[in-house]
Parts: sequence; structure tokens; C-alpha cells
Amino acid sequence: MISVKNLRKQFGEHVVLQDISVEVAAQEVVVIIGPSGSGKSTFLRCLNGLEKPSSGHIVIAGHELTGHKADLIEIRKQVGMVFQRFNLFHHLSVMDNITIGPIKVLGKSKAEATELAEELLRKVGIPEKANAMPDQLSGGQQQRVAIARALAMKPKVMLFDEPTSALDPEMVGEVLAVMKDLARDGMTMVVVTHEMGFAREVGDRVLFMDGGYVVEEGTPADVFDHPQQERTRAFLSKVL
Ligand code: ADP
Ligand code: MG
Repeated sequence: MISVKNLRKQFGEHVVLQDISVEVAAQEVVVIIGPSGSGKSTFLRCLNGLEKPSSGHIVIAGHELTGHKADLIEIRKQVGMVFQRFNLFHHLSVMDNITIGPIKVLGKSKAEATELAEELLRKVGIPEKANAMPDQLSGGQQQRVAIARALAMKPKVMLFDEPTSALDPEMVGEVLAVMKDLARDGMTMVVVTHEMGFAREVGDRVLFMDGGYVVEEGTPADVFDHPQQERTRAFLSKVL
């Protein structure tokens, strides 16, 4: 589903991603961990075309991101992203937040988009909030709307960049539960998170990034219980 080869990204002289090669299979859940500044967000932003790679190749669902402009537009439709900050449109209702993409970008009718949005709000557990404004919702509810909004575009891949880091602790579980359901439904997911419990339970594979490289990767048990690299051990000893 995702193939990344020799991805390099620099901002001016500052090389943020040195040389990243990663394959993600359909329906796989890959969790990325690593210290702040290691390039995790930049990597995700490259995967959905928000950042242009300095060199290397990215292919998602058969579209080469580093190729033609038409492919970039197609990839943006097929890759959903959920950020740490919920990024909802604050002047729009929950319903309008979810239907605007399908109507404006996919050309769906309002009726069709509304029906899908209702289904997605049920899926994320807040069907009664369709007419609320984002500011009337808790952080956990807003993040679930953000997930529903991304899913409304019927993406083939979902990227999550620390989706629970900005939440009060009591709301973390409800968002992780929605993500776990998505994984169980077979969504291909790349998740940057510090939630090691989620990584262990839901992740098929864990990548540890440091200094712009994937330093170590393996099953959650491999990486958490038997880290091979000193840098992984040092990181885990601080977060576990
Ligand atoms: P992480 O998500 O692992 O904390 P980031 O990908 O956000 O790491 O950042 C990695 C490095 O890239 C940081 O040093 C950050 O300052 C730098 N960086 C990220 N985005 C930009 C940008 N648009 N311009 C310049 N430097 C950037
Ligand atoms: Mg980040």
C-alpha cells in the first residue's frame, strides 16, 4: 500500500530525514515512536504530500507521490490525516465539517454526504453531535470528529500524528478505541504515538526513529521487549 525508498528531506541545510525506506502492506498498522525532533511528523507530512521530498520515491496505492501532479492530487484524496490539534473548521457545524470534503472535492450530493456523515458519527460514537459546533465539544469528541472527517473521504490509508497528545488524560481512551476499531476493520494505518499500550496491542510493527533514520523496527514484542539498538533502549527507558 505504501512504498518509501531512500526518502530524504531537508529544510535548507538542515537534513531532517536522512534516508528512510519503509514498506507498509494493506491493512497493516505501523506505529512510529521516537524522540521529539527525530522527523516523525515530517515523515508523515511527506506521505500525504504536505511536504515535498528532497529526494527518494514514495508510492501510495499505485500512485507515485514524487511523480506527476495528478498523482499528488489523487494521493491527497486517498490518504487521510489526523493531527495532534484537531484542526476542525470552527465556523462550521460538526456535520458540515464532515460533509464539506465529500461535497467539494468528491462531488457527492448533499444527501449522500449527509448520510455517510451520520454513519461515521455513529461509528465514532457521537451521533447526537451532528449539529453541534466544534467549540461545544470536548477535546476527545473533537478528535473523533476529525477522524470521521478524514474517513468521509474514503481514504485507503490513515495517518495519525500524535492524535492523543493534546487531550486530557480521561479522553485518550475514547480516541484510541476508535482507532482500534478502524484497525480491526482493516484500515491501513501509520500512527505516530507515545501510547505504548496502543502500540503493543494494535500495532503490527513498530518503527523507532531517531536523527532522521529508522533505527530499529520489528513487532511490538521485538522492539519493546528485546530492543537491539542502544538508542532504542535509551528512549524506551525514558518512556516506558
Ligand atoms: P518530530 O515529529 O519527530 O518531533 P519533526 O518532523 O516535527 O519531528 O521535526 C524534525 C526537525 O525538522 C526539527 O528539528 C524541526 O525543527 C525541523 N522542521 C520541521 N518542519 C520544518 C520546516 N517547515 N522548516 C524548517 N525545519 C523544520
Ligand atoms: Mg511531531
